[in-house]
Amino acid sequence: MLRTLKAFDLKDKKILMRVDFNTPLKDNKISDNFRIKSTLPTIETCIESGAALTLMSHVGRPNGKHDKKLSLMPIGEELASLLQMPIKFSNDCVSQDAFDTSLGLKPGEIHLLENLRFHDSEELNESNFAFKLAKHGQIFINDAFGTAHRNHASNIGVLSYFKHYGIGWLMDKELNFLDSFMRKPKKPLVLILGGAKVSSKIDLIDKFIDKSDHILIGGGMSFTFLKARGKEVGGSLVNNSMLSVAKKLLKKALDNNVQIHLPEDVLCSESISSPKVVGTFNVNEISSKLMGLDIGPKTIKKFKRVLKNSKTVVWNGPLGLFENKNFETGTRDIANFLSEIISEDVKIIIGGGDTASALSKFNLINKMTHVSTGGGSSLELLSGKPLPAIKALEI
Ligand code: AMP
Repeated sequence: MLRTLKAFDLKDKKILMRVDFNTPLKDNKISDNFRIKSTLPTIETCIESGAALTLMSHVGRPNGKHDKKLSLMPIGEELASLLQMPIKFSNDCVSQDAFDTSLGLKPGEIHLLENLRFHDSEELNESNFAFKLAKHGQIFINDAFGTAHRNHASNIGVLSYFKHYGIGWLMDKELNFLDSFMRKPKKPLVLILGGAKVSSKIDLIDKFIDKSDHILIGGGMSFTFLKARGKEVGGSLVNNSMLSVAKKLLKKALDNNVQIHLPEDVLCSESISSPKVVGTFNVNEISSKLMGLDIGPKTIKKFKRVLKNSKTVVWNGPLGLFENKNFETGTRDIANFLSEIISEDVKIIIGGGDTASALSKFNLINKMTHVSTGGGSSLELLSGKPLPAIKALEI
């Protein structure tokens, strides 16, 4: 069992909360505040209940070194502006100053710590570092779903030093949609897969062959499956080492009566580094000089036909090179279509990572039933793997 915020009397307590504020930063500015916004309900419950809150997170990969470009300061500013209140900030998560600030917090005040990963002890889950972090509060709350697949000091090590710990509302919501709901989803269930890396999604396909009715595959990974079906795909992205696994999955799907739908046509370019549209081609007519970078109109139509009758849709991975305007249409059209078919009866669940970024780009993030804040962790949870940080919080 996991304890939610309801299990605690928060009044006048000091809470240490692990959040996932790992947002894209450029020139110390935030380009997407989705993860920060998603944590607001938990933060608001704490401060409205009269607790004082110390928040800790990582951002980026500083590899144990202080890196000004990866400071949480601009994230604190964004949080302050979203909550319309001042936030205290400490420029080292385990300095005496930081401990003093946490200790001196009044009910309703918020204190944000500098990037946890400026210390390599965080990712190494060193107990001395975890012990120091634990000095910031009396109750530990984990709301960082995005790091729940990691075994780090701030989400696992720290638990040794708390008697009272639980999860925040975001974690609760993520587990509800990606775990509890997915144990008995409404059928027909359609899985949409895209992105570039086949290897990271093999377990997900394997798991969904047992429970889904259709699997739609687009994006770069579709070419490995097309090749496994004997098609020539020109210069498109193919992972040759995954061909035999792809063949096995295609056979398993056939044996289980699950239809795997692959692209029929694709938008092609000569290169991925300067992507310009050369034209739309049927998948077996792509010349060796060209590569498919988006699904074509016939494929979009086919995918929509399948999606129209679904009751549950799970989507992980963009259907093309959505970062480039020339190759975003497939991902955008399907995202728009999903926002049209969603209803009380039709649930649309989006894995995090690039699919969430794409929806954010198209302003559709609030139109889905659930958009996960965790790329890797949602992939693992949906694939049926236990998340270490969640297991550790069980009582
Ligand atoms: P992944 O991390 O495996 O989900 O891959 C996400 C990335 O795949 C995104 O940056 C997309 O631009 C990229 N992508 C999607 N479709 C293609 C494609 N047809 N060829 C190459 N890259 C693609």
